[in-house]
Amino acid sequence: MGSLVVLIVEDNDKNLKLVRDVLQLEGFSTVDAVDGESGVELARELQPDLILLDIQLPGISGTEALARVRADPSTAHIPVVALTAYAMRGDRERFEAAGFDGYIPKPIDVAELPRRVRAFCLRGAIRS
Ligand code: MN
Repeated sequence: MGSLVVLIVEDNDKNLKLVRDVLQLEGFSTVDAVDGESGVELARELQPDLILLDIQLPGISGTEALARVRADPSTAHIPVVALTAYAMRGDRERFEAAGFDGYIPKPIDVAELPRRVRAFCLRGAIRS
């Protein structure tokens, strides 16, 4: 079995590098994009096992990128997890209502990240 592929869409260099390094160390393959449009395109092209999607991005927002991923039958099944600094009460419900599979708050908990990412990948495997 090949390694799980995670698409990271994040415009902040430091966050992108952190998430990429942690996931690669744990054996995931990663691809990345720094804006929503190219993230949506890469999702179509590469069919990743999971998309980690920042909300505040240049160009279209993460929420709009999610809508495009869900509207396309070739990517609709891919789990999409919001990567967000808005770690406040009620956010979980808000992100789930928007159609995200979940969210991972920033700052990133590097010890937790691989386990959570793996769990979200499995959710997609069940769905597809
Ligand atoms: Mn951002």
